[in-house]
Amino acid sequence: MSDLSAFSLAGKRILVTGANTGIGQGIAVSIVRAGGAVVGVGRSAMDETAEKVAAVGGRFEAVRCDLGDDATAQAMLDRVWDGTGPLDGLVNNAGIIRRADAVDLTETDWDDVIGVNLKTVFFLSQRFARRVLAESGRRGKIVNIASVLSFQGGIRVASYTASKHGVLGITRLLACEWAAKGINVNGIAPGYIETNNTEALRTDPDRSASILARIPAGRWGAPEDIGDAAVFLLAPASNYMHGAVVPVDGGWLAR
Ligand code: NAP
Repeated sequence: MSDLSAFSLAGKRILVTGANTGIGQGIAVSIVRAGGAVVGVGRSAMDETAEKVAAVGGRFEAVRCDLGDDATAQAMLDRVWDGTGPLDGLVNNAGIIRRADAVDLTETDWDDVIGVNLKTVFFLSQRFARRVLAESGRRGKIVNIASVLSFQGGIRVASYTASKHGVLGITRLLACEWAAKGINVNGIAPGYIETNNTEALRTDPDRSASILARIPAGRWGAPEDIGDAAVFLLAPASNYMHGAVVPVDGGWLAR
């Protein structure tokens, strides 16, 4: 007889940002497969994700919110918490990328990317933690979607690399501050995953071939690859993990 309850999300309610597509959608589907309910937050319609969740018999609530403004994001989390119930987890997944040579990158490209990928991640986490800590005995799990560019420089993505190095740093800092208070803060560093984020790379035959040749697993990642790792970081099985940013990259960083 096997007991996989430590890996179950039954009874857990998780907010996932950027859940309408890509990795966020994959995370939402993995969460419901593990028995959890998802609040999907984003600026676009979530119909496709709602359909995929319904197909596996899960619970999904869609919330419209532009995460480019951190105050709006914080107010959204309070509305969700007070309106439809408390949250057990937060997955900071929404993110953007701007590609340009460093000599050409604009201030707007810098501010937009740092805003969504780093500033909102911090203040949404802060708001989530305040709500968790306000209730005696409540626990919480935060999973930040970092990148292999939290560890490497990359090329032509200066603001993105800065934001993802920042995500690695605040994941560690928040873990140190909240580990003893019942909140786990960890992250996932995806490698090269087939989503809108990597479309420009995948449609460039030279970049695409050179990236693929460097991935030990010999394939690009799928959103579910990240979703299943997120389930582990949201489940009781990872209760003693704090401040880890786990690569899920087909072996990219191992080379
Ligand atoms: P994606 O398909 O472009 O999805 C990004 C998500 O973020 C979308 O849901 C997008 O909404 C949302 N978003 C962006 N700006 C937003 C805003 N201002 N307000 C609300 N939602 C916003 O890319 P992805 O690959 O799934 O990316 C998900 C996360 O994984 C990002 O943090 C990314 O940096 C990270 N990541 C991806 C890869 C990869 O290879 N794909 C590798 C490492 C890390 P819209 O659809 O409305 O734009």
